[in-house]
Order: sequence, then structure tokens, then C-alpha cells
Amino acid sequence: MQCCICFENIQHYSSCTNCIDAYLCYLCEEKWTKQIKDPNICFICKENTRINIHTQNIEIYESMIEPILQISINIQHNEVNENLNLFKNCLKIFLSIVALYIIFFSLSYLIDYLDFYIILLIIFLTIFFLFLLWLYIIIVS
Ligand SMILES: [Zn+2]
Ligand SMILES: [Zn+2]
Repeated sequence: MQCCICFENIQHYSSCTNCIDAYLCYLCEEKWTKQIKDPNICFICKENTRINIHTQNIEIYESMIEPILQISINIQHNEVNENLNLFKNCLKIFLSIVALYIIFFSLSYLIDYLDFYIILLIIFLTIFFLFLLWLYIIIVS
């Protein structure tokens, strides 16, 4: 067999089940893998069809992509935490507004003064509207 990259005659090689003449010597396979390319993926048809890959080259590839995978996992974790913090803050503000409304409502009920109650309702609705606006801005940005 002939390696399709270095054209050396080779006895030990990997190949693709789809492509004819896609033979690689283990040295060329190693060079390919060190460019952070999956040795299982055929460089011609881009399918996961390469067979007889040198186990050492699989290990090289796995050791190379491990830190990359770790970084992407960390990024995902941070995003989840940020979303959780945002949700907690929103909940706090919302609960504060509800508590404020209950306090105002109780006060107005105690006073038994209808106009005062309506004014408080308007104040509450204004605060609530501003809260929704703030929420909308945060979600959009
Ligand atoms: Zn070669
Ligand atoms: Zn192929």
C-alpha cells in the first residue's frame, strides 16, 4: 500500500471504508491529528468512517481536545450561573414590589379612604410597569 500523503510504501496504515486510496501511514496520521483533527473523520469524505487508526494517535487527539472541551463546559456553567443570578434578582425585585403593594393596600384599607387607595394603585402600577420595562431591557440586551 502507498500512503496518499507521503507516497511511502507502507505495511501498517489506516483507511476509510468510503474512499478508495485514502490510506495513511501512522506518521502522516499523527501529523494530521496534531492539527487538532479527529483521526476517525476521513479527510476526504468528512465521514466518521476511518478504520485501523493507531491507538496512540487516538490518544494524542483525545489529550488535545480535552482542555478545549473543559473550557466549553466551564463557559456553559458560567452562563447558567449568570442566568440564575439574573432570575434571583428579578424575583427579589418582584417580591419587594408585591410586599410594597400589600403594605400600601393594608394601609389604605385601614384608613378606609377610597381616593388614597386609587392613588396607591396607580403608584403600584407605575412601579410595576417600570419593573417590566427594566426586565424587558435586560432580556433584550
Ligand atoms: Zn504518510
Ligand atoms: Zn472517506
